[in-house]
Amino acid sequence: MSLAHELSLIPELTFHPDHDLTQFTTMRLAAVGDLVEVRSVVAVQKLLPLLKKYDRSYLVVGWGANMILPAQCEELVIYLDLPFDPSMLEAPQERYRLPASVGLNQLTGHAVRFGLKGWEVFTGIPASLGGAIYMNAGTNLGEFGALVTHVELVTREGELREEVIDSASFSYRRNHFVNSGEVIVSATLVHRGVDAEIPQKIRDYLDYRKKTQPLATRNCGCVFKNPNRDLPAGKLIDLLGLKGLAIGGLRVSVKHANFIENTGSSTWEEFETLVNIIKSQADQFYGIEFELEVKIPYD
Ligand SMILES: Cc1cc2nc3c(=O)[nH]c(=O)nc-3n(C[C@H](O)[C@H](O)[C@H](O)COP(=O)(O)OP(=O)(O)OC[C@H]3O[C@@H](n4cnc5c(N)ncnc54)[C@H](O)[C@@H]3O)c2cc1C
Repeated sequence: MSLAHELSLIPELTFHPDHDLTQFTTMRLAAVGDLVEVRSVVAVQKLLPLLKKYDRSYLVVGWGANMILPAQCEELVIYLDLPFDPSMLEAPQERYRLPASVGLNQLTGHAVRFGLKGWEVFTGIPASLGGAIYMNAGTNLGEFGALVTHVELVTREGELREEVIDSASFSYRRNHFVNSGEVIVSATLVHRGVDAEIPQKIRDYLDYRKKTQPLATRNCGCVFKNPNRDLPAGKLIDLLGLKGLAIGGLRVSVKHANFIENTGSSTWEEFETLVNIIKSQADQFYGIEFELEVKIPYD
């Protein structure tokens, strides 16, 4: 028996060895590696113990909107495509139990249609629900974690675990409850009632984002965390005069300096080089150690 053979025996799971992973991140750096597509929670429960048995390292990718993969990815990449019945978004509800693979864009469409208060906080964030929870994604309107009451995860042993969310569950761009190797499979969200002004608020915020962020380019969102609420990393990089700085096909965005754009066929090494230049200048001129927001395996 091999891992590949055992994977082939799991229903609702497809194993793609040496797969082109380039399209699995929004940055689109060329990457190749083993991919597993999983279409049910039960299949996730069978997969994780198997990976433990074979001592195979892995990671989960959502929309890959905050992730960079190396050219040769050693970790097995798990991509969730869990069942979702869109008819549950046809009317507003008090609470929503949703699969981790649902896109936030679908939820924003629902919030615009029914004016759900609170859901404006994730306007325009490209993400799967699982990725938004893992990252506690947010805008200057608020953070995603504030809308979450329960998260269901699969442990490395294949058991289902429910996390009840409280005020200590999240902090800035972090969760404090996903243990190493656990996979978020679903979550329950609430809203703060209905407000007729929400649809316009969301539309205005989308316009604002289009003007201030390079949304039409290949990038991974903000590369660095803001050192604190009053010190946006983008502003600090801009003041260093680094907007437009290019290494190979990568360029610091001229629209928003905390974004790095892939303008051509760029490499992981070029990304590291550009990140290190920015980090060392921030250290030298401000005495600030920039921390990566983007997730990089092996970092
Ligand atoms: C143009 C652009 C604009 C952006 N604007 C914002 C913004 O305004 N605010 C903001 O916060 N972010 C922003 N981002 C970054 C990104 O959208 C968020 O970090 C988002 O939460 C990533 O979700 P994802 O599904 O793409 O996760 P991925 O990038 O695929 O993964 C991120 C992390 O979550 C983990 N993960 C994903 N799914 C699961 C799961 N089911 N179980 C366990 N772990 C999981 C991954 O392993 C990884 O460590 C932007 C990105 C882009 C490209």
